[in-house]
Amino acid sequence: MKPTHPDYEVVIGLEVHCQLRVRTKLFTPAPVTYGAEPNTATLPVCLGLPGALPVLNGPAVELAVRAGLATHCTIQPRSIFARKNYFYPDLPKGYQISQFEEPLATGGYVDVPMEGEEEPLRVRLTRIHMEEDAGKSVHEAGLSETHVDLNRAGVPLIEIVSEPDIRSPEAATAYLRTLREIVRYIDASDADMEKGHFRCDVNVSLRPHGSSELGTRTELKNLNSFRFVEAAIRLEIDRQAKVLSEGGTIEQVTLGYDADRGRTFLMRGKEDSDDYRYFPDPDLVPLVLSEERIAEIRAALPELPEQKRARFTEEYGLPGDACAILTEKRGLADFFERAAAAAGDDAKPAAQTTANWMLRDVLAVLREDDVEVQDGHLEPEGLGALIRMVEEGRVTARSARSLLPELIREGGDPERLVQERGLESVSDEGALEALVAQAIEANPKAVASYAEGDKKSLNFLMGQVMKASQGKADPGAVRKLLAAKLES
Ligand code: ADP
Ligand code: MG
Repeated sequence: MKPTHPDYEVVIGLEVHCQLRVRTKLFTPAPVTYGAEPNTATLPVCLGLPGALPVLNGPAVELAVRAGLATHCTIQPRSIFARKNYFYPDLPKGYQISQFEEPLATGGYVDVPMEGEEEPLRVRLTRIHMEEDAGKSVHEAGLSETHVDLNRAGVPLIEIVSEPDIRSPEAATAYLRTLREIVRYIDASDADMEKGHFRCDVNVSLRPHGSSELGTRTELKNLNSFRFVEAAIRLEIDRQAKVLSEGGTIEQVTLGYDADRGRTFLMRGKEDSDDYRYFPDPDLVPLVLSEERIAEIRAALPELPEQKRARFTEEYGLPGDACAILTEKRGLADFFERAAAAAGDDAKPAAQTTANWMLRDVLAVLREDDVEVQDGHLEPEGLGALIRMVEEGRVTARSARSLLPELIREGGDPERLVQERGLESVSDEGALEALVAQAIEANPKAVASYAEGDKKSLNFLMGQVMKASQGKADPGAVRKLLAAKLES
């Protein structure tokens, strides 16, 4: 693979904060909300009121364990919640509860499919730990004061920390996409980046090609779109390369990214973990998970995207890029398999035909409308039935295709629609023969040039027959009949 920078190897490690899909906060029954009136989703624990005691949210733990298992981590039988002390207006307790020395999950990996590469990129995970989110400082345009909204304070997060195994901006976003796909598959998170459910800190350093020592890193904080991640990394690579090539040294700092101006800016010098004075939270007992409990959670995991991709290749013989698209979202993958089952009795060819219809026709409409397949009106069995009609020659591919946008947007029974619209293809020998005879009689020139060896005239005549049938003639049957007539 071509190096990202001619003079330096780029080294990237990511810390991803992912909001767990639970109804209540990590240590109180206060609801997890989005867009609610400020400070209406809080209880004494979120406000840091003296004497309020935290109680751990069980379902949140289960989702965090799922995420650990789905990324091949070891789930620790015992983990510890610690206080990370710092002052911030949106952190009324004066500390955030996180896991530090003994995290929930350690040592996993994510295999990231890379465009144009045979082998996926394996990104090792250092750890996954649980923590609570902080509140939000709201700086309203035109107001000189800053407001604090504590609705987000205490919302359950996992932080997924990667080893510095990533070597390019594209690989960073490919990793993030894969990770997002995994947490969505296992229902651990909605991972909606616009809502801040999935955001990341990017650590970047450079080193000479061939060096095995890590260079000094900088950290780009809180990026919440794939586009920003790539753009910010590119800027940081250029900045560091310039400093190093001029003989300077990189300072370990924390940077922000200003998307409007398309540049990074210094937020603060880098703090060390010592600065946070971590210590075990005396209000919380260690989180202990029995082997049986972990096994139960593992048994309940759905098929993961990488497993599904492997199975689609194996079972249906689908090419890699088709598998990648069809398995990207669990809803789409399930839809595809149900449609394929209805499209034909022979699983492999039915799946291949269905994959073509999905990739070429169905996704085009979904993308145009920006909807997910499960939110459209098309039933997988309906698509399967339509494909079956095409395969059986009862309707032409062209007619079937013309019905798809309507079926997706408004729904309906394909069988009935085909009948109502009179789209049943003409495959009746007698009717086809009449059409063929008509075309031959009306186009003596084309017939003559075919006889003189211009085989392309057959296509012209085909076109005439199809036109006369209003696109309903079975093209295979027409070609056969025409060729036979012209040869005789
Ligand atoms: P902190 O919370 O102080 O940022 P962590 O250990 O939680 O520290 O996270 C460090 C992240 O930075 C990890 O994702 C790791 O892979 C990455 N990282 C560490 N050293 C480097 C480096 N020299 N270059 C790039 N990334 C690095
Ligand atoms: Mg960090």
